[in-house]
Amino acid sequence: MDRERVLRDQTVIVADGRIVSVGGNAAIPKDAEIVDGHGSAWLSPGLTDMHTHSESRQDLAVYLAQGVTTVLHMGGARAGFVDKTVPAVNRGAIPGPHVYASFLVDGNTDYNGFVIRTPDEARAIVGLAKTNGYDFMKVYVGLAPDVFDALAAEGRRQGLPLVGHGVTAVRLERQLAEGQVLVAHAEEFFYTFFTPRGVEETDVPPPESRIPEAVALAKEYGATATADLSTYAAIAHQIRHPEFIASILAKPEAGLLSPNDRLAWQASGYFAKTARLDAKLAFLGKLVKAMADGGVELVAGTDAPAVPGMLPGFSLHDDLDALEAAGLTRFEVLTSATRSPGAFIARTKGGDPFGVVAPGYRADLVLSAGNPLDSLATLRAPLGVMAHGQWRDAAALKGLTDGVREAYRRASAP
Ligand SMILES: [Zn+2]
Repeated sequence: MDRERVLRDQTVIVADGRIVSVGGNAAIPKDAEIVDGHGSAWLSPGLTDMHTHSESRQDLAVYLAQGVTTVLHMGGARAGFVDKTVPAVNRGAIPGPHVYASFLVDGNTDYNGFVIRTPDEARAIVGLAKTNGYDFMKVYVGLAPDVFDALAAEGRRQGLPLVGHGVTAVRLERQLAEGQVLVAHAEEFFYTFFTPRGVEETDVPPPESRIPEAVALAKEYGATATADLSTYAAIAHQIRHPEFIASILAKPEAGLLSPNDRLAWQASGYFAKTARLDAKLAFLGKLVKAMADGGVELVAGTDAPAVPGMLPGFSLHDDLDALEAAGLTRFEVLTSATRSPGAFIARTKGGDPFGVVAPGYRADLVLSAGNPLDSLATLRAPLGVMAHGQWRDAAALKGLTDGVREAYRRASAP
């Protein structure tokens, strides 16, 4: 994934969870565990979901089985997830992707953020988030401008960059100018960029002639955008239509969704909404395509399982399909889930690089039976996945998901 190409007949040597060498005639160490991909297997970087709310061991196992080797948790996790589960999964003691975590703050209790109302509280919460092991501060819509500014400054000082939503009283131009590094949903551009301040949001998208303004803004500040096209589509499709969620819950892979999430999805607040988002969904596809063409760094993300319809792991593949349908090349689509998230994390947090199969990179790898550049669908059924230096073949991955299915069956039994 350094550029669009396939290297044939390569040997990839991995030690201590890192790629040591990639080449045609590598000397294989005597005690090496050998994964033979001869004949017809393709190795590509593990996938990244840059917007999740999964916090259970079960969800983490499902991500891994779907080839997702990195996730960015976007806030609201229970106590214990970031200080206990994340360190364990990140050292390979619990099967799952490498997890980065954001601490969610808001200015009021309308949503689910930790509420801060003053610059002093903003400075204090950044320090607390750092102490508790978080990587980023996630901003939410209700923050006051002076509180946002304090978060940005303190986040810079302590090394916890800002990610998140458009903030109504600040707006994206100023957020990005202050150094927010990631816009957590492409649709944030509707709420705090295209729609003028104080004007009610409607179902009518802005004229397409304004798309270059959004591309120019993201480019000006080097901001990254999460292109969550399948998430917005799921929201658009379930408004007034509970049967959309019922159809997803009837799929075999929905047996890997926790009973709690299943109940939450069936009580989705979207059913009672009345918006008609089809036109805005089509606009978002064009916005994301224009961003890709304009060189804005795009990352794939799903909001699973917080947004009903987004199954952990499986929904990332749907998101990649949605990006392809929006007109991105398969290489660009794969970039949004491999090299670009790796570059984003390397730039904002440092640590071992990932997202490219090259020496020095984290050995987060997916082996597939087909070339993903010919068909992304091959990534839905990995022949094996490596993460944290541990190789799991298809049978081991199935063992992980069988365990999850069985745990939920037992939990739901009368
Ligand atoms: Zn989210």
